[in-house]
Amino acid sequence: MTNSTKNEALRHEPGPGYPQAVKSPQRDDLFSQIEQLKREKNAVILAHYYQDPDIQDVADFVGDSLELARAAQRSTADLIVFAGVHFMAEGAKILNPARKVVLPDLRAGCSLANSCPPDAFAALRAKHPEHFVVSYINCSAAIKAQSNVICTSSNAVKIIESIPADRPILFAPDRNLGAWLEKKTGRKMLLWQGACIVHETFSERKIAALQVEHPEAELIAHPECEASLLAKAQFIGSTSALLKHVIESPKKTFIVATEEGILHQMRKQAPNKELIPAPPNQNCACNECPYMKLNTLEKLHAALRDETPEITMTEELRLSAEAPLLKMLEWSTQIGKNA
Ligand code: SF4
Repeated sequence: MTNSTKNEALRHEPGPGYPQAVKSPQRDDLFSQIEQLKREKNAVILAHYYQDPDIQDVADFVGDSLELARAAQRSTADLIVFAGVHFMAEGAKILNPARKVVLPDLRAGCSLANSCPPDAFAALRAKHPEHFVVSYINCSAAIKAQSNVICTSSNAVKIIESIPADRPILFAPDRNLGAWLEKKTGRKMLLWQGACIVHETFSERKIAALQVEHPEAELIAHPECEASLLAKAQFIGSTSALLKHVIESPKKTFIVATEEGILHQMRKQAPNKELIPAPPNQNCACNECPYMKLNTLEKLHAALRDETPEITMTEELRLSAEAPLLKMLEWSTQIGKNA
């Protein structure tokens, strides 16, 4: 069964306990128009786990940053519609220069990527020329171009461990992921002080109250969360690792501290588990990424139909950003083989 067919089946047959998606003639019509346009244009839709459920359901491939980078690299489509944020679509373009890459809403940025301006980063690098630069994939092409290797939250520990022990490391842009990696690997690193607004939003006080209410629940968290929350989590992992853990764990109830879009796949793939989104500090929907949510099914349809807005960059920048990205893919394949 192809991913597309699988998604088609899942769309109409949610598991027990799964909240029914709101079905409307307009929504179904959009789904069928998108399927038709995909065939006509030899297009592929790649969607991040933090996208709206409808977008995940219409996508050919849903994954985290590493899985999407690999899917983009494997793609033979003429048109890639990237339902995620700008740095991710840039990543697809870097790996697929001959293909057109469109993002449903060009304003879908990222607070973490924005927290690392290229000029300021170049100035820090100039002060520490001996450092090996490891950048988390959540950064702009201009930061990737200044890095020796890229990592994702799935492969970051192994990537850090692959760097000779006597080489100092500059890690950017996420201070929380960087601090967690220092703990995991025992490597002291120079950390860029960037952060994700979503993963720094969770209320430890409200989570503690939930744990009293649900003593059987396991707290699981993404390493972009703050150290004090991570210290209380029973499982820490990338978005795909959290999904796998919920599916495979004998536990029945989970408090999930990451962007709540992932709950859609968790509910689909582990319909009998109880999932409680970790609450944010404020009475807001701050555990939803406001950038990811700028993409909508309607905008995705328009992007596919009109082949715009397109992601472009100079070939010089693309080549400089491609080298550390390819190094990550090569290293992570190597690490996978040796694991
Ligand atoms: S969840 Fe955080 S890191 Fe991910 S795209 Fe949104 S702002 Fe960026």
